[in-house]
This record gives sequence, C-alpha cells and structure tokens, in this order.
Amino acid sequence: MLKSFIKNIFLREKYDFQTLEGINSIKIPNYKPLQGMSSPVNNVEYILQRKATEHKKNGKMDLAIACLKKANEIFPYSNFAWSEKDYMRLVEYLKQDRQFDEARKEEQKIKEMFQKTRVVYEGKNIETNIVGLSEKDVIDVFGGLVESFDLECCCEECAKYAKRIFSIDGKDKRFPRLPDCIKYYSDKHKYCRVPLNAFLFGVNEPKWEYSGNIINWSNREYKDERSKEQKESFKKRVKEKEEVAKDKEFYDLMFEKYPEVTPKSFGGFRRMKASNSENYKKLLKQAEELLGYDFYKEN
Ligand SMILES: [Zn+2]
Repeated sequence: MLKSFIKNIFLREKYDFQTLEGINSIKIPNYKPLQGMSSPVNNVEYILQRKATEHKKNGKMDLAIACLKKANEIFPYSNFAWSEKDYMRLVEYLKQDRQFDEARKEEQKIKEMFQKTRVVYEGKNIETNIVGLSEKDVIDVFGGLVESFDLECCCEECAKYAKRIFSIDGKDKRFPRLPDCIKYYSDKHKYCRVPLNAFLFGVNEPKWEYSGNIINWSNREYKDERSKEQKESFKKRVKEKEEVAKDKEFYDLMFEKYPEVTPKSFGGFRRMKASNSENYKKLLKQAEELLGYDFYKEN
C-alpha cells in the first residue's frame, strides 16, 4: 500500500497536469501486464481522469478535456481493461463545454472502436473490456477456445449459446464455432450481457456445472434455457436502459438547443423526472413549444 502511495506521488510529480503543453506531451507508457487482482490507480491514464475531475471543478474545462483526450489515447495500450463508459467521459465533457460537433466526432470514434471482438482475459467482464485478448492471442495462446457463461441477462437468441465451449474460428472441430452474435458487439444485442473467457482445454475447468463430457455438452441442442426469473430480469433491464437512453437523447437535444431552460446536468434532469416535479412538467411544456413537437410521443 505504502509503496503504491509513494509511486503515485512520484508519478504526479513526474508529469505536468497543469498546462495544455504538459498534458499533451505525456507519452504512452510501456505497460507490463497486471498480475492478478491489481488495480490501475498508479497508471497515468487513471491520474489523468482524476485530474480532469479536478480541473472541471475549478472551471478549467480546456485542461479537463485535454486530460480526458490524453487518457483515451492511452487506454487501448493500458494493462487495464477500460470500458466504453470510461472513454465516453470525454464526450460528456465536450458537451458540457458546448463543443457539440467535436463531441459527436469523438463519440463516433469510440463506438467504432467498441465494435471489435469481445473476447477477453479470464475474470474480466466483456462489457467493460476493450483491450483483453485479440482473436489471434486466443488462437496462439489458448488454442482458439473460449467459454461462455450462464447468461443471466441476455435475449432469447444469445441464451442459446450459454454454458458452452466454442472454437473462435471454427478450426477446432470438436466444439461449435463461436457465433457472431456473441462474439461481436451489435446494436441488436446491446443490452445482452454475454461474457466470454479464453479457455485452455485440459487445464481450465468450466465455471458452470455440466453432465457427461464437455465436448458433447458443448454440442447439445440450442435452446433458451433461461428461467422465468432470468427472462423477466432481462426484460426489466431493457426497459430501464431504453428509458434512460430516451431521456439522454431528450436531455442532450434540449441542452444543445435550449440551455436556458434545461437543467445543468443529466442527473438533475433525471431526478426532476423521477419526482415528476412542477419544474419538470413546465420543462416538458416548454420543450414542446420550442421544438414544435412532443419528443416523448414522437420518439
Ligand atoms: Zn442477445
């Protein structure tokens, strides 16, 4: 603990986070893989994110944005799996700084990047992973096999692929080929949680129970094996996520076009909506007048 604290202090002094030149000149570090349950708190991209929060609090949005841009630049090379949400902080900061075109550009870039393969290191959630293992790593190091889990929160289609071993490229004929629907991100399955781990045959044990031999088990009939509760919980998740997405769309539109009537933060807007306050009703009415249509009805 003390050692990491000292290292942290040292890092803070090694870099200049107080000027644009200082932040922009930070180089991508050459990371060694994290061992076990390590955390990235000594990583420069982590410190950059903390600094961005500080700069924002002090009203220095240019420095805050520079920190997040630099962090996003470093993330793909990190020894830690940064999530899409981590990358998207930059987009939110840009919007708050009213740089809407730049925000859209960055968002597009991030979305494209996250459409890559979803295979990851053991123990890390796919949803929160971008670096992980590449398809090539899985083939070279793990013989091309991956393991899917008891998919508690996914759609009917993804559910068919729960608790199996797959061959990532179909070359290992003992196992079924990994279907694209769980291998890649897609809009259709954006609410499905379908983690995959690399699986070393003969060394790793599956994280779930099975009967008979693992090869036959993995080739069993494709059926939605979810319980009633699992199906319900997925439906609930989709409903909630869609509601938040809709609210965000409405909020972003209003914040860009009519900042004078729109709350300062999305969190504030959501609270206002949840309590169905007078101010919220007033905002909806104003929005309809300003936009010329009822957003929630037409979208
Ligand atoms: Zn799905």
